[in-house]
Parts: sequence; C-alpha cells; structure tokens
Amino acid sequence: MISQETVQRIINTINITEVVGDFVQLKRRGTNYLGLCPFHNEKTPSFTVSPSKEIYKCFGCGKSGNAISFVMEHEKLGYAEALRWLAKKYNIEIQETEIDPEYKERQQTADSLFIINQFAQRFFEEQLWDTELGQAVAYSYLQHRGFSDATIRKFGLGYCPNERDTFARTAVKNQYNTELLLKTGLVVQRDYGLQDNYRDRIIFPVHNHIGKVIGFGARLIKNRDNAPKYINTPENELYVKSKLLYGIYFSRQSIERNNECLLVEGYTDVISLHQAGVENVVASGGTALTPDQLRLIKRYTKHLTILYDGDAAGVKAALRGLDLALQEGLYVKLVLLPDNEDPDSYVNRVGKEAFNNFIQENKKDFILFQTEVALKEAGNDSQKRSEVVNRIAESISKIDKTEDFSRQQDYIRQTASLLRVDEEGLISLVNKFVREKLQKEQRKQLQEQSAPQLDADPADEEQLDANLALLLGNELQERAVIRSLLLYGLLPFGEVNLQADADTPVTPIDGETVATFIFKSLEDFHFDNAELEKLYQLYKSWYDAGLAPTEKSFVYYTDESINRLVISLLEFPYELSPRWEEMIQGKKTNEIEQSLKDSKLSVNYFRLRKLKRMVEQNQQELQQSADADTQQQLMEVHLELKRIERDITAELGTVIIK
Ligand code: ZN
Repeated sequence: MISQETVQRIINTINITEVVGDFVQLKRRGTNYLGLCPFHNEKTPSFTVSPSKEIYKCFGCGKSGNAISFVMEHEKLGYAEALRWLAKKYNIEIQETEIDPEYKERQQTADSLFIINQFAQRFFEEQLWDTELGQAVAYSYLQHRGFSDATIRKFGLGYCPNERDTFARTAVKNQYNTELLLKTGLVVQRDYGLQDNYRDRIIFPVHNHIGKVIGFGARLIKNRDNAPKYINTPENELYVKSKLLYGIYFSRQSIERNNECLLVEGYTDVISLHQAGVENVVASGGTALTPDQLRLIKRYTKHLTILYDGDAAGVKAALRGLDLALQEGLYVKLVLLPDNEDPDSYVNRVGKEAFNNFIQENKKDFILFQTEVALKEAGNDSQKRSEVVNRIAESISKIDKTEDFSRQQDYIRQTASLLRVDEEGLISLVNKFVREKLQKEQRKQLQEQSAPQLDADPADEEQLDANLALLLGNELQERAVIRSLLLYGLLPFGEVNLQADADTPVTPIDGETVATFIFKSLEDFHFDNAELEKLYQLYKSWYDAGLAPTEKSFVYYTDESINRLVISLLEFPYELSPRWEEMIQGKKTNEIEQSLKDSKLSVNYFRLRKLKRMVEQNQQELQQSADADTQQQLMEVHLELKRIERDITAELGTVIIK
C-alpha cells in the first residue's frame, strides 16, 4: 500500500488545472477555468475547474470531483492506481507500507494468475496461427464463422490442441507453479499428472476493462456428447464473473461516444458486431445482470439496450434483475430480434447500417415491454391482472427520482393506459411503494441515529408525509450550515446588518470566528443526516485541536463518503433557498460581509427548522396527554419554543420562511 506520507506529498503537489489540462484545453474565466467536457460530447464548454477549491464540475453532464477522482474517471483507474499515476506525473517517489497480509496474499495470487493467463493467451494464439493443426482445425472454423484475420487478432482468439497436455507441459517447463495453474482452470489434476482442460477448443480470452486477461472461455469446435459447449474459468482471485462483461475493454470508448451500451448474450455476438463496425457492445453470458455489472456500464453510459432473440427463456433472462438497473438510474431498452436471428447472424445478413436502424426503430422501453408481456400472460384473469398492476407499480417506484423527476410520471401515464387503469389510482399505488421504501429507510435511519421519534404511528400516512417533508427540509438547512463552516469557518466573526437595504459595515467581535459562532449556535442541536454530523464533528475536533481546517482538508480526506459529501457541498453554484438568494442578489458586499450573512442565515434557518419540529412534536404530545400537570409543562415548553422561534425570526429580519 502507498504510505500515508506519500499520499500527503502527492496531494500537496498536485494542481488540478495541470492534471485536467493534460486532457482538456482550459481557458481562464474569472477565477475558474472552462473547457470542453471530456466525459460527454459537447460543442460549447460547460466543464469548469476551480483551482481554489481544487474541484471540477461539468454543468452539462453533472460529473464532478477532485484531481484524483478526475484521473480515476478519465483513465478508468482505481484510487491507488490514480495516486500512482499522479506520482509518476510529478516525479514523486512512492513509499510502500506493510499491508494486511491476507490482502497482500490475495493481491499476489491475482498478479500471478494474471501472468499465467498472459502466458497462456500467447500460447493458444501461437497454436492457432503457427501450427498445422491450429490452422486446419481452429483457423478454418473461425474463417467459416466469418471472422477476419484482423478480428481474430484483435480479440486474441486462440486454440488449445486436442492432445493430453501440450499446454500443461509447456507451462511446467516454464516453471509456472502447479497450484496456481490449477487455480486458473487451464489444467486439471489427473492420476498421471496435469491435463489440459480446454482440449480441442477455441479459446476466447476475457479482458477486464483495462485490458488485462483475467480468464478464458473455451468453445467446442465439434460437438461432442456429454461435453459442454463452453467451459469458463472458475472463480478465483482474478476472475469474478459477477463483475465482468465480455468485450468491455474493446467497447468502452464506443459506448461512451454513442452514449449507449448494447448487451448481447455470447462472445461470438460481441465479436461479429465489432467486425461489422458496431462496437458499443458487451456480453453478460446470458445471466441476470448483477449490480457490479450495472455499475461498470454506468461508468460509460446511462443507456443500456438489451438485444435478445425471440425465445421465451431469453425474454425471461433479459427481464430478470432489471429493477436493479432502474435503481441505479439506468435507462433500459429492449430489442427483440427478428425470428430465427441472433445478433451474430443478423448483422452478418443485413450489415451495420440496417442493423443500427433496426435497433433504433425497435427499441422498447423496459417497463412498457414488461407490462405488455405480463398482460399477455395474464389474459382475462382479473386476479392475475391486478397482480400485474401491482408489480408494474413496484417497478416504477424503483426509479431514482433524484436523477430524473419526469421519468416516473411519464411511466405512470403510459402504463396506466396499457393497464387500462386510471392514472390517479396508479399514482397512489406507486406512492404506496415509494412510501413503504422510505418508511423502511427512515426507520433504519432513526434507529441508527436514535434521533427523536418522528413517526408515532407509521400507518398515519399524512403525518409520515409531513415528517418526510420536514426531513428533506432539514437536509437542505444542514447542508447549508456545513457549507458555511467549510468555506468561512476561519474568517473573523462580527455583527452584520441583515436588512436588505442596509450598508452598515461589519463589526468584528474579538477572538470570534465563523466557526466558533456556529459551534455556539448549534450547541443544543444535532444533525439528522449522519454523514453531515460526522463531518461536523470532524471539523470541530480538528478546529479544537488547533488545526485550521478548510474545505481542502476534506476534499482529499481518506474516507470516500466524506470526500464525496464535501465535493457535493462545494459544487458551484450551490442551490440556496430561493428567498435567501433573492435577498443577497444585487447587493454589493465584500467577502467577509457576505460570508457572515451566509453563515448567520444558514445557522438561523437550521435552528428554526429544528425548532419548528420540536414545536410540532410538543403539540402532538399535548394533544395526546390527558394529565393536567403534563399539559401544563408541555404548554410552558411550547411558549418557550415559540419565544426562541420569534427571536430567530426577528434576527432573520424581513425574511419570512414557512
Ligand atoms: Zn460533461
């Protein structure tokens, strides 16, 4: 592992405009830099880099992060790999530290397996090109399948001869370790020794997204009884089936360029499509997509189009697990190929252009398609039909609304007409599922934080909705406070007039900073959001320890969730509450004045939100209590809360909030 000192040295040295500038032409625009986004296609620049905040943000596609995440995203590297990349760029020598021995062992095994795979891949390739048998059996078979020399070489296809141990002998002679050889699945142990496992098969190397051979698929050339058509590498330290997509290395650029990923079933479909010029395609091996595979696709595009041939099993396989894709915010389409065609045969018959046209014209939305299929199955059975309505409503409820709000409504409109139910009814059914999901999450959150109980009775839906609105409202105020802390915490604190037409200067108060002001104001309050609370406590502990934390201290903090949170808080422009923005707009204020206003407002809004919640809770208790003494006490609490609320509202000046 890279030592913490090295990480610090890298972080202290890197300059985000230099790092991004390696890939993007940047022009200065005020305090920021602007360029064409490397993550999506655009003609007018919306990719912004802030050197002072050390972050970037694209206003076209929304991608944002710091210098390290830029390298990770752009070069498709892991965190440690990105650090190594940066160290190399800045000539920083990397010091390694001792790491967890178990992790180290796994890593070493994976490295060794990779070396064996690389060796094996070259061996099989040589067998195909340079031996008589390879040419006569394997090469002629591939030629017969229509694969060109260039295609065979691009995908590194090979041949394992139909002999007992040609590969095993060569590997042992080259001093590869038997135990590791067995792990690769390339050989098996027999009484007489090692035997080749892929005898008389075409070898398809499987590459990960950065082009390393992590395993193989081996296909029979002549069908044999009792022999499976394909054998694949067994799961090992390097080959994890649920995380890989065949073809991703060769397709990733095209997927990004086309902003669409086609998904097919088999290796040969991927290869044929590539040869025909359709390069944005990967294969899943015909099983339901896993969350890891969906995330791998999402690195390159949000648009997933699944191609399948018409048999019922194919349809079922295609539909399985797709609710997960909705949750991941992917847009899923399905294309049913013409009868008796698979992607391989179809593209070979009609060519690239007709193939692409067919896909664009026949793409069906996943949810609508699922609705049609299920309705057909249900026929006139009313019980079954209502089950279908329920299931579709549940699918729709899975759509991540934060990514695209109108999408859910579009679906409701379209499926309501297919299902022949009224929209209102479907909306409330979808809302029921959403609510159930939120309730579950909310309850979990409350348990984790042991915050004051919000939902006295989960069945009381109206109350729950109100509580949720409150929670969401709180979140905005909480984020605003942390943002003030990060941006202005170290500035001196003083009195500012908040009236919109006032131009009274700031009167500093001795020894006070925005941070101490915020600490004092929030003494009796907590953050509902656990991550924000963590960030707040972290800031406070650093500040109290005499450090001078700034937003940068957190942008590179090793906890990735904190890291992401800080970046999201600092994204420019920040959504201030509308009234707040109105108030500040058009006023010439110097930075300190502005920062104090920001901080005071955010703190007061924060406290006001919390107070409003306390007042509501108090009133509920008041309504429920029958005992006069308790009622009296609660009344007093109520009046006190109201008094504080009035004070804060007065301090907020003319600003009125609900
Ligand atoms: Zn972009």
